[in-house]
Amino acid sequence: MSRIAYVNGRFVPHRGAAIHIEDRGYQFADGVYEVTAVQGGQLVDEALHLARLDRSLGELRIAAPMSRRALGFVLREVIRRNRVRDGIVYLQATRGVAPRDHPFPANTRTSLVISARRARAANAQALAEGIKVIAIPDIRWARCDIKSIALLPNVLGKQQAREAGAYEAWQVDSAGLVTEGTSTNAWIVTQAGELVTRQASNAILNGCTRLALLDIARHIGLTLVERPFSLSEAKAAREAFLTSTTSLVLPIVRIDDTAIGGGKPGPLGRKLRELYVAHAEGQTAKHAALPEVA
Ligand code: PMP
Repeated sequence: MSRIAYVNGRFVPHRGAAIHIEDRGYQFADGVYEVTAVQGGQLVDEALHLARLDRSLGELRIAAPMSRRALGFVLREVIRRNRVRDGIVYLQATRGVAPRDHPFPANTRTSLVISARRARAANAQALAEGIKVIAIPDIRWARCDIKSIALLPNVLGKQQAREAGAYEAWQVDSAGLVTEGTSTNAWIVTQAGELVTRQASNAILNGCTRLALLDIARHIGLTLVERPFSLSEAKAAREAFLTSTTSLVLPIVRIDDTAIGGGKPGPLGRKLRELYVAHAEGQTAKHAALPEVA
């Protein structure tokens, strides 16, 4: 089956899908994106992702490409045309096409690209044995709360992790505090049993998985603190894990050369992963009762 992409109002073969060379996304990384999980053919936490998209667009003063309702329809149509049951849908919106010049152009139309693909279920080995992260300096800009397509520091950090045989790199600010991973949010469980993740601010992307998991943790009455934690506190933690749309909740058993939790995934991380998976599946069950969008 050939893949289909949505590009500025048209459904086109993925293979040949293209945007103009003077698209400001291509030239200035002047755009934003969202990655949403698809489970059982349904979007997971759609409202959180579309709200974050609106916020990112608003912060950059890029016009919304269409209404939220219309966007929801197109996302579903791309998923349907690609027959994705379990996978991801990617959306990118940029300030549009204009002769290359730094200031905002006067009359551009927001460019919108959407694609979807099937994705494998979580790596069973990573889940069972836990993963390794390395620590790197956070060299990003001061607006990490915007889900910008300018991801060069993240790309460099992830590559460094891969070359070190690690799954992810935890970025550390100039005060020695962990901000987040290159594409994931960072969590620890302290020796006192406190669940800690950095509070939302300009220093991190407020992950949709992070938000959903905070809700779950509150619901089950965990001792939860949103605050920064240092790299040394993380290395002394009882448990550590990361969250994202594509990794869900993944246990961390090593930070640099320090074993966490005796080098084995911890019980709280496992419990939270189970609850998060149930949360995502719950949405599928809820939607299953609805008639399919024509
Ligand atoms: N932080 C960064 C820098 C990211 O790129 C991502 C994934 N887009 C996340 C955190 C996790 O966000 P989410 O849970 O919405 O996937």
